[in-house]
Amino acid sequence: MNSINYKMFINGRWVSGENDGEKIIRENPSTGKVVSTYINGSRKDVDNASSIAKETLELGIWSDLPRPQKASYLLKIAHNTRLRLEELAKIESSETGKSFDDACMDITNGIKYWEFAAAAVRLHFGEYIDNIQHQTGAFTSYSPVGVVAVILPWNFPFIVLSERLPFMLGAGCAVVAKPSEYASGTCLMMGEILKDSGIPDGVYNILTGTSDAVGQPLVEHKDIAMVSFTGSTENGRKVMESASKTLKKVSLELGGKSPVILFADCDIDKAVSAIIAGFTENAGQCCIATSRLLIEESIYKIVMRKLTNKIEDLDFEQSLANKNQFEKVKSFIKIARNSDKIEIFGGDIDEERFFISPAIVESKDYKNSLYSKEIFGPILSVLQFNNEKNAIDLANDTNFGLAACIWTSNMNKAKRIINKINAGRFWVNSKQVNFPELPVGGVGQSGVGREAGMQGIIAYSEVKSIIYNEK
Ligand code: NAD
Repeated sequence: MNSINYKMFINGRWVSGENDGEKIIRENPSTGKVVSTYINGSRKDVDNASSIAKETLELGIWSDLPRPQKASYLLKIAHNTRLRLEELAKIESSETGKSFDDACMDITNGIKYWEFAAAAVRLHFGEYIDNIQHQTGAFTSYSPVGVVAVILPWNFPFIVLSERLPFMLGAGCAVVAKPSEYASGTCLMMGEILKDSGIPDGVYNILTGTSDAVGQPLVEHKDIAMVSFTGSTENGRKVMESASKTLKKVSLELGGKSPVILFADCDIDKAVSAIIAGFTENAGQCCIATSRLLIEESIYKIVMRKLTNKIEDLDFEQSLANKNQFEKVKSFIKIARNSDKIEIFGGDIDEERFFISPAIVESKDYKNSLYSKEIFGPILSVLQFNNEKNAIDLANDTNFGLAACIWTSNMNKAKRIINKINAGRFWVNSKQVNFPELPVGGVGQSGVGREAGMQGIIAYSEVKSIIYNEK
């Protein structure tokens, strides 16, 4: 695939912005070949895109459109995106290092969010209260929150955008998107697809660049009413701090260190396959990766034997997405190798292509960074527990709270545990699958707010309460 030279997308046009000469060059992490060149935008570009978005919102050409019309636009976008699936998948795969097939799956899954949001727009309306007092009625209605800045990560660029953008549009908002400087291609291509689908100019604007050049100025900008940020907990904290100066609303989808809890009464073979997928999918660069495995002591040995055998034969080829990420994951492998308290299986390193093979670590002393930090690579840290309470305590012994998996044949036990574990998403006897009907988000230092599902539209709406007298 030839390298693509991208511009930014403001008010329905491709523009060079202020810093035409300043480029960001993206290489395919597994081949080192240049695949994309982006403009590193500026504060002035942020100003331009945000004020255009605000003007467009105030004109009402999109926000005032009746719900059924908004819904048909979203369906048209889904359709047009599907027509360009291969093109999008090629871009996604070349910028992230994931396989073309995995990228196709991501695009296919992302499109489902557009389709669901079309239904959600038509179902999201206020409540009516007749006779709240004598001859007085009341109702609630929803308005768009305003101009939303959506700031995106590089691990699942298209899916993360699709979990958010259709709901923002469905709520009637105008949007300024800032994709990751490592993977902006599919977010930019959606500019073309939205325009071809008839979305009015100025509703969806895209700025490329680094966090300093574009991200931070966007969070600070006076015309932005809400920031939807998906990225690391460390940067999410900075975003919340900056947004607090203008009291912007924030939705923060951050990191995780999610547990998978294996009880002795589970189907071990099914669980083992799901555990492998849970920490190796996308080379472990997945916010909901189940990277802490808690095993009931009576099945500990057999599960470990199955897991270590399975990773030896695994067909695993994905490189880490960039050098920083590779160096970070490598440093955790070194910690494990240099400690006499930690046992490590796998974790072979190939410097040439930023590759690290899946690794499983065991340690009795779990008070170390392998058990507490988000590694964002294919490393699984394992512990054993001896009863239900112990499993819950270990699962909750983290600042994060994004997701959890539970394997047991006792559904009552699973429900009891779900009530006690701090997380936003759960899977019981299941690998990690997602549906647009269900909201996503975390608790604790994994984030604030929810995206997708019916919550996705509510997140980008302001509710108004209206009381009226009949005469
Ligand atoms: P990152 O925090 O480095 O960057 C994310 C985006 O934010 C990028 O576009 C970046 O340029 C921008 N950014 C960074 N600092 C900023 C600031 N101070 N102000 C404004 N913008 C800023 O994250 P990443 O490395 O791209 O992605 C990996 C992280 O994202 C992991 O921690 C992962 O768990 C998390 N993630 C979470 C979810 C979720 O739904 N919870 C989904 C995907 C990824």
